[in-house]
Amino acid sequence: MTRPLPDALLQVPHRRDVPFSKLTTLGVGGLCHWLFEPTTEAEAQTFVRACAQEGLPWRVLGGGSNLVVLGDVTTPVLRLALPKTVQREGNTLCATASHGHIALAEAAATIGLSGLEFASGIPGSLGGAIRMNAGAYGREWVEVLARYRFLTPEGDLVEKAPEPGEFRYRWSFLTGGRVILSATAALAEGDPAGIRARVAEFRGKRGTSQPLSKRNAGCIFKNPPGQSAGRLIDQAGLKGLRIGDAEVSPEHANFLVNHGKATAAEFAELMARVQAAVAERWGVALEPEVEIWRDDPDGSSSGH
Ligand SMILES: Cc1cc2nc3c(=O)[nH]c(=O)nc-3n(C[C@H](O)[C@H](O)[C@H](O)COP(=O)(O)OP(=O)(O)OC[C@H]3O[C@@H](n4cnc5c(N)ncnc54)[C@H](O)[C@@H]3O)c2cc1C
Repeated sequence: MTRPLPDALLQVPHRRDVPFSKLTTLGVGGLCHWLFEPTTEAEAQTFVRACAQEGLPWRVLGGGSNLVVLGDVTTPVLRLALPKTVQREGNTLCATASHGHIALAEAAATIGLSGLEFASGIPGSLGGAIRMNAGAYGREWVEVLARYRFLTPEGDLVEKAPEPGEFRYRWSFLTGGRVILSATAALAEGDPAGIRARVAEFRGKRGTSQPLSKRNAGCIFKNPPGQSAGRLIDQAGLKGLRIGDAEVSPEHANFLVNHGKATAAEFAELMARVQAAVAERWGVALEPEVEIWRDDPDGSSSGH
């Protein structure tokens, strides 16, 4: 992006040229040219308002656990750096969007509140989890979400309870320049030992089925209707296919892993090879489940 950024935006704490290898769990990508890290809701509001006034495209980043970044990103990126607070009121827990998702599930378990056990192995931030309506083992966020607070694309603050149509499988309407600031979960009192046992059971399942010792972005492709992307990839003989440091995990075919120095180009090629092989073998077009970020070839990027 060659366009100068407005002064109001530059008031918000920011860093230049931060490698996406430090901002994402997969560790692939180029540089984040402008990383804005507001430490208060007011600073986040300033960011969104300044971008809206200038018509500037931008993106929002959480823990970077559902992202594959294929190159440099020149549009401003917002990553909330709010204090990581959790407040209990009765059986509800309210946390800021910057809070670690797994840490929040652990906090609930520690105080004997049940309902977030499903979240105990899903990395990233609370904001990213709400945006994605993250879920596992038959549960998802919208089932426990009591209220949430967010900025509109114009920078107005809204706090509300979820309504029908706002959340569905791994999707929410909180895109297009909306920024989740905090969320409240309605939980239930439970037996702490039972909660811890469920958390341990879920973690154990992940430990045996996912390549957690290597950098990854979770499941890369969506399951086509009625089918398993992992099985299609596995049965196309692609486990272990490696391009440079990017590999189709031998443990779980829908996890593409970074052995340490994978480049964006290697990762893009590996994804394309998997899609082409599955299309040829099974006639199925695999769609990414992860979000893909890259600048458009003309040097701009679509934003949000
Ligand atoms: C090992 C592993 C296991 C995983 N297992 C699961 C699983 O079981 N279930 C599951 O659902 N997911 C899973 N994931 C995917 C991922 O962890 C979730 O989607 C997670 O909720 C993403 O959160 P994040 O903060 O990392 O978001 P990011 O990856 O940073 O961003 C994801 C999306 O959320 C948006 N976003 C982030 N923060 C905000 C905000 N404050 N306001 C508005 N939008 C925002 C981003 O713009 C982007 O569109 C897994 C990932 C890994 C690496």
